[in-house]
Amino acid sequence: MVSKGRGNFLKVKCLDCDNEQIIFDRAASDVKCIICGKTLVKSRGAKAKIMAHIDKVLN
Ligand SMILES: [Zn+2]
Repeated sequence: MVSKGRGNFLKVKCLDCDNEQIIFDRAASDVKCIICGKTLVKSRGAKAKIMAHIDKVLN
């Protein structure tokens, strides 16, 4: 379940290099993979667009 009004932390896996990284799904700016630089999260106002494989939702 995704709670309303608050963002969630997600454990994602980069589609290009399999690096696992913790990201926030309401990131105010784009988040890039620390290994290869691929964009993992694209900021789109209220809700960010996740561009990576979501492994786990952390609460
Ligand atoms: Zn990567």
